Formats: sequence, C-alpha cells, structure tokens
Amino acid sequence: MERVGFVGLGIMGTPMARNALKAGFAVTVTNRTIDRAKPLADAGATAVRTPREVAERSDIVVTMVTNTPDVEAVMFGADGIASGAHEGLLAIDMSTISPAATRDLAKRAAANRPPFRTLDAPVSGGEVGAIEARLAIMVGGDEADVKRAMPLFQALGKTIIHIGDHGAGQACKLANQIAVAINNLGVSEALVFAKAQGIDLERTRQVIAGGAGSSWAMQNYAPKMLAGDFRPGFMVDLQQKDLRLVLDNAFVDHVSLPGTALVHALYNALQHDGGGREGNHALLKVIERLSGVEARQR
Ligand code: NAP
Repeated sequence: MERVGFVGLGIMGTPMARNALKAGFAVTVTNRTIDRAKPLADAGATAVRTPREVAERSDIVVTMVTNTPDVEAVMFGADGIASGAHEGLLAIDMSTISPAATRDLAKRAAANRPPFRTLDAPVSGGEVGAIEARLAIMVGGDEADVKRAMPLFQALGKTIIHIGDHGAGQACKLANQIAVAINNLGVSEALVFAKAQGIDLERTRQVIAGGAGSSWAMQNYAPKMLAGDFRPGFMVDLQQKDLRLVLDNAFVDHVSLPGTALVHALYNALQHDGGGREGNHALLKVIERLSGVEARQR
C-alpha cells in the first residue's frame, strides 16, 4: 500500500486522515497549528513538523487547507512539499481553490527538481461526509494518476468522478458550490415562509425532505436551523471564498449567474453581522431578519 500524508488537519482534513488510517494506509500528518495533529498521532499516524517532512515520508500527499495562497504556501513555500519531493511523489489537493491556479501548480510541479505529479480532487459532502467516508470527489488530472489514487479516494468517499484535465475538478467543485448556496437559500426561505404561515416547522421539514423540494441542504441543514445550532461544518467565510471564485470566473467568461450574485450578497450581510465563522446554514438568520420572523422549533 502507498504511504499517505496529510497537510491540513481542520474540520475536513482530520476525519479524512482518520479514514485513511482506518483503511490501513501508513499515514503521516502535519498542521500549521501542530497541536491539532495530536488526536491523529494518538490514533496511529506519525505527526511531523513540516509539509517537507510529510512529502519525504509519503508516496501520496493530500493537501486540505483553506484557499489558493495556502495551497501555494504548503506546496512551494519554505519547507513545502516541493522541497521534500522525490521521484513518483503524487500531490493531491483536495481543498477548494482557483482552477487557473491549480493548472499553474501542476506546471510548477512538473518543472520542479525532482518533478512530481499532481491531481486536484476537491470534495463535497460536508463534515458529515468526511467523517462517514461518503464524500463526492471530483478529480482533475491524468488518468494514470487518478487510477493510482483510487484506493485512497475509495477510503475517503463514495462518488469518485474523473472530470477532466488539471483544474477540471476545481471547476466542477465551483459549479457544485453554486447549487449548495442556492439550495441553502431555498431552505431558508421555505422555513421562514412556513413559520409565517403558522404551520409546524418539523412536520413541514419532514414532508418536504421526502418530496421534490428535498436537497442535501433540506436533509442536513434544516434540522440544525430549526434547532438554532449554527456551529460550522462548513464556515460562511469558506462559502464566500468559493462564491467569490465562482463570480470571478463568471466575470471573465461573461456568464450571468443572478442567483449566485444574490446569495453572495446575502452572505455578505451575515459576515457583516459577525457570522463569518458560523456554519453555512446561518444564512437562515439573514432571511429571518428581512421579515422579522424566527423559524426555530421550540
Ligand atoms: P478549516 O477547518 O478552517 O481547516 C483549514 C486548515 O487549513 C487548517 O488545518 C489550517 O491550519 C490550514 N491552513 C490554512 N491556511 C494555511 C497556511 N497558509 N499554511 C498552512 N496551513 C494552513 O477548514 P475545512 O472546513 O477543513 O476546509 C478545508 C478546505 O476544504 C477548504 O478549501 C474548504 O473550502 C474545503 N471544503 C470544506 C468543506 C466543509 O464542509 N468544511 C466541504 C468541502 C470542502 P490551522 O489549524 O493552523 O489554522
């Protein structure tokens, strides 16, 4: 079995590394805030200080950090993956970042001395999908590298699709984020409307979740919304990072995305009110405020 490394042990990276361990891979991990590596070290992973050391000890390295500059830093910064690269190393970025920057990173990796291989393989399914190894994984890069990574992907997810060349996985992930954000808005509006109608919110949620109005957001976010539990799975600040990437690309391509632009503006209001580190589903609060209606199950 290939030796696997993880760089970035946040909400997603930690359970993903844990699932790789459970599947029997030898796992080496690191995190900028090194204390966060302790639970994985206790579970049998080797914790090291730098991405360079992770690369030296691994055949495949997964990066799961926040944004484009963060992936660039852990790959090509001081003590980055590139400085520990060896022949045959495969670096898989599973964060959500810019498709164009991803293509660039692939070129830089190919020009590195020694060169190394890359894939982009962003994921969808949230923290719960990461914990339960049920992620959807959208992959960009060369077929042979995708085949090689498949046993690892199968330890982390259930729906694994090779979308196309380098950057195609990230482009697909941005399309996914459009659907996530707009579904989230639909759920928020449905619950506020139901509350204003004076009908039971939990029964409403249950029946909608069994019909054509269902969505991942209705099944996973609505129960948290009704309970008033706005802790993150997926932070609003990260959702905004993704929608910004969508809108930047739409601007370049002259693609009109009115729903995405609207929901991005609504999330801005949430960030303005200090909700950036809350869960994505805190969007409900913005819709509640617009109508003076609180849609919570009491
Ligand atoms: P998170 O909990 O905030 O974790 C981010 C991780 O990145 C932390 O380990 C952080 O280290 C590390 N990091 C950030 N900047 C860094 C830098 N410059 N150098 C080194 N390490 C750095 O975020 P997350 O929810 O796991 O998300 C990670 C990625 O997955 C993001 O791209 C996100 O959009 C994507 N994603 C998230 C979800 C979700 O539901 N949460 C779902 C799909 C995709 P520290 O611990 O030191 O801060």
